[in-house]
Amino acid sequence: MALAKDDRVRTIGEGGRRVWLYPLRVVGRFVKARTAVAWALFALLLIAPWIDVAGHPAMLFDIPGRRFYFWGLTFFPTDAWWLLFGVGIFIFSIFFFTAVFGRLWCGWACPQTVLMESIIRPIEELIEGPPSARKRLDQAPWSAGKVARKGLKLTAFLIVAGAFSTTLVAYFIGRDGVLMAQAFPSTHPAGTSFFVVLTGILFFDFAWFREQTCVVVCPYGRFQSVLLDPDSLAIAYDAGRGEPRGKAKAEGTGDCVDCRKCVVVCPTGIDIRDGIQMECINCTACIDACDSIMDKLGRPRGLIRYTSERILAGQPRRILRPRVVLYGVALVLLVVGFSTAVALRAPVEVNLARLPGAPYVQLPDGRIQNMMQLRISNRAGAVRHFKVALEGPEGTDVSSPVADMAVAPGAVQHFPVLVVRPADGVRETRFRLRVVDDAGVDLGVTGTFLAPLTEGG
Ligand code: SF4
Ligand code: SF4
Repeated sequence: MALAKDDRVRTIGEGGRRVWLYPLRVVGRFVKARTAVAWALFALLLIAPWIDVAGHPAMLFDIPGRRFYFWGLTFFPTDAWWLLFGVGIFIFSIFFFTAVFGRLWCGWACPQTVLMESIIRPIEELIEGPPSARKRLDQAPWSAGKVARKGLKLTAFLIVAGAFSTTLVAYFIGRDGVLMAQAFPSTHPAGTSFFVVLTGILFFDFAWFREQTCVVVCPYGRFQSVLLDPDSLAIAYDAGRGEPRGKAKAEGTGDCVDCRKCVVVCPTGIDIRDGIQMECINCTACIDACDSIMDKLGRPRGLIRYTSERILAGQPRRILRPRVVLYGVALVLLVVGFSTAVALRAPVEVNLARLPGAPYVQLPDGRIQNMMQLRISNRAGAVRHFKVALEGPEGTDVSSPVADMAVAPGAVQHFPVLVVRPADGVRETRFRLRVVDDAGVDLGVTGTFLAPLTEGG
């Protein structure tokens, strides 16, 4: 990756002073496309915890209940393998997509960019006006008008932060949980704290921290130098076509007229003509800005465009490189492995455990009774009704005080099971039960019957 002429962070001035940027908002084909993608992603993000699929929220990380609902699938702690697959798919997706598409994620899907560019900056412009008006307002002494504008803007940011926090918290404590946490903090202090802290972080980000999240905090930008290569897609300035810069009518100049529109629209304050830089979040604003200038001049678009360093150097782009093949194969294997494991996993899982307390009791008729607990996890999308029966050995009686062992979809239920055997003096007897339901499930589960030792036992 080419280095910029200087690696100064534009938002940090002398002595660590915050340098405030006033990027001009530009509208062009890329910004329009990105805005459409942003709203589709917002819709997906915002509805998932609020709608039901197969009787549960479409997405819920129910940590106290130790289960995860994902668009109709239910994962229990015993499905921990999905976490390994999930982490693997996440890591190799980053490797693969960055190697091929560069920082497409940053510009098109990262919540920070999407929120800032599609909601926060438009609100700011609506209330405080274009960059020149915003700069004048910031430099003006405090007045009633300035307080009103700033107050209105910050209130709007707080509402957006609160709305997004509500949904993000709902991913973990459910929609009822988050609404209870907001309405009655004493009923859910952890949920209320989570909501307040998250709202505070988002508000701080919207109101002050902004692009510094990308250029100072986000680790992804720092990984670029290892993940990108000269064939990765990047937004870059075509210096071969643009240089030397000069007035439109000047002789012997390139296509760049040095209007600096690509610089004034940049939300991280960089000049893309200095080369591909770590601060570039691939927001595409400079492409649209420069295309609008080229349109006015009657010159071809694309002086700044999606390209690669190799193409800019006049060489053919190589899509298939060793790293792309390696990451791609690993990603496909992980996705296939995950899909196969999900498709083949049993819809019902049963476990048998001994109830705490006395391991056995002697009944009035002299037989020995063990009290067990049957745990049934129903991963299916419908209620299931189970029965338990003995498989062996003979002479064992099995029953449950619960006549209808009904388990809701995505739920885990525990049922008491009484196992009775004659007092034959044998300390431990292995037995096996069958758990069947009305939809074809027939599962075996093994337990150990404990009895007191008697003489000769
Ligand atoms: S917008 Fe285009 S023409 Fe204007 S300075 Fe940037 S690269 Fe040059
Ligand atoms: S250089 Fe262009 S794509 Fe990169 S952050 Fe600035 S405006 Fe966005």
